[in-house]
Amino acid sequence: MNAYKQILVAVDLSGDSQRVCRQALEVANGNGASIFLLHVVEIIYQVSVASEPMFYPAFEDISQNEEELIKLSKAKMADLIRGLQTGENVRIESDVISGIPKAEILRIAEEKQTDLIVCGSHGRSGFELLLGSTANAILHHAPCDVLAVRTKKNTE
Ligand code: AMP
Repeated sequence: MNAYKQILVAVDLSGDSQRVCRQALEVANGNGASIFLLHVVEIIYQVSVASEPMFYPAFEDISQNEEELIKLSKAKMADLIRGLQTGENVRIESDVISGIPKAEILRIAEEKQTDLIVCGSHGRSGFELLLGSTANAILHHAPCDVLAVRTKKNTE
């Protein structure tokens, strides 16, 4: 088996992210790999279908909101990374971007020529018994191996 060198870890910044990252660190340690943590801020635009006149936020409001969310997520990511400092000799990089999580995770995996994607089996969305929708898309369309770390929803 070829060693993994570049590992992409998809983190939704939920309580399970520590566990997902720790599993990725184990694999990275055993393979001498680098880790890239990625969080994708999903901006959901709501369009009202009411018969009342619709008020759309000015474009600046949307981008301001997006900037705010990215800033918040970057702070959470920094906390997550701080909590991971366990002395392992693994190079960790990270980024927070906006977009559709599954599409961005797959795009960055291609771009970085990732050889392993690590994600949680479930995240903040998804059904109790089914694989989460982001995890499912990664599993089906990844250009490389995928490690889906079992998270609490299917172990309870
Ligand atoms: P889900 O498919 O939403 O249940 O989430 C399953 C896994 O996909 C999570 O545990 C994360 O590893 C990953 N994931 C979900 N949403 C995001 C996101 N916005 N950014 C990065 N990774 C995510």
